[in-house]
Amino acid sequence: MKDFSKKEIENIKTLTENKQTLIWDSLNRKEKESVFMFSDAYKDFLSRCKTEREAVLYMIDKAKQYGFVDLDSEQSPHGKYYKVYRDKVVALTIFGKESFDKGFRIIGSHIDSPRLDLKQNPLYEEVDLALMKTHYYGGIKKYHWLARPLSMHGSVVTKGGKRIDIVLGEKESEPVFTISDLLPHLSKTQTGKKLSEAFDGEKLNILVGSLPIGDDKVKERFKLAVLKELYDHYQITEGDFISAEIELVPAGSARDVGFDRSLIGAYGQDDRICAFTSFEALLETKKPEHTAVGLFFDKEEIGSEGSTGAKSRFFEDFISDVIEKQEGQSTERMLRKSLIQSQMLSADVNAALEPDYQEVHDKKNAARLGYGICVTKFTGTGGKSGSSDASAEYMGVIRDLFDKNNIVWQTGELGKVDQGGGGTIAKFLASYGMEIVDCGPALLSMHSPFEIASKADIYMTFKAYAAFFK
Ligand code: MN
Ligand code: MN
Repeated sequence: MKDFSKKEIENIKTLTENKQTLIWDSLNRKEKESVFMFSDAYKDFLSRCKTEREAVLYMIDKAKQYGFVDLDSEQSPHGKYYKVYRDKVVALTIFGKESFDKGFRIIGSHIDSPRLDLKQNPLYEEVDLALMKTHYYGGIKKYHWLARPLSMHGSVVTKGGKRIDIVLGEKESEPVFTISDLLPHLSKTQTGKKLSEAFDGEKLNILVGSLPIGDDKVKERFKLAVLKELYDHYQITEGDFISAEIELVPAGSARDVGFDRSLIGAYGQDDRICAFTSFEALLETKKPEHTAVGLFFDKEEIGSEGSTGAKSRFFEDFISDVIEKQEGQSTERMLRKSLIQSQMLSADVNAALEPDYQEVHDKKNAARLGYGICVTKFTGTGGKSGSSDASAEYMGVIRDLFDKNNIVWQTGELGKVDQGGGGTIAKFLASYGMEIVDCGPALLSMHSPFEIASKADIYMTFKAYAAFFK
């Protein structure tokens, strides 16, 4: 057996070991400044876009400033187009040098987040208080939503088809809404229950008023007073809630977290963190080799269903339109050919190693804050059930791409085996035969009203997506 010198051992280590890099260790002063500047723009986006509709409006508005035009009605001299569907899903593209049959470079994220939706018959009164009933959307811990200020965002279609958009509770001067919680003094029965049974979905009702109209001979006068307010301000009647989508979300802006301001805390970072970074990366892309496509889906949090989710045909439609613009025609065969040759990143978040709950993670395979964009080979539950599972070959392609472009990246698995699990849009797009892998930053407190991200990870995610498009 040979004796190795200290130097030889060092050499063996560098040659064979896989070392994780903390982003902060890899950045110079100027780059660190860029990290903080980029994060300010991201916070502004988060504060202004709390629903899928708001995110779509923001993106079209900014894309137009960068020379993107409507794919259905205009001609772009630079091959930069967008297409919106039902105001909830948007796709953008920049035409590349290669033709469609060489495939596209696609990044897909989602712009819906867990929240409370108003029911279609929401308004009622109880013990001289006016309340509205909600039905939660996506995976939430119900107690997160109690006893905190909530703002109201959404659209109401009145009789006759007029749409009225509402945003209420974001400005300091505006009222907010809240769900009252039981005081600890009287929670004996509740605290004895299992967490999954302690909070009743039917009790997630928001307080909306306590001022009566008329005297106590008027029936339901607290409810009536709210209806009058709604009519005076918005010309909305009780029946109009039937044709409405009103979302209750945490009120307030995205904030810096920590003495050093190195983290961001905000609602909706799953998955607007990937939406924003991939959108910005696309805006920065100039003359890519392959046609670059950014997809921003709705309905991921409830299984990518519906006409605006990743399971819908919107995506095929969009790609067909792109091919038609490029080639003057688009057949089914051309569409399939381009899709099977395409490479895609399913841009979604992973769970960061929780400092106080490390036992739910496999620490060797958990993503950590500050260690860069996380490449997730598979998602799913149990024995990877429900996952599309990226190929070793494609993992290799992405690994090399990131290394060549000095991207700090890591891998991550969502929790210990059999601890739970989750899914993304990846499997729906994988069914076209393209290469696809989940790839996005890690968050603490994912799916809570105040999710935490590292500013370094946000910036690195932007750089990684830009390298992929290029
Ligand atoms: Mn997500
Ligand atoms: Mn999610």
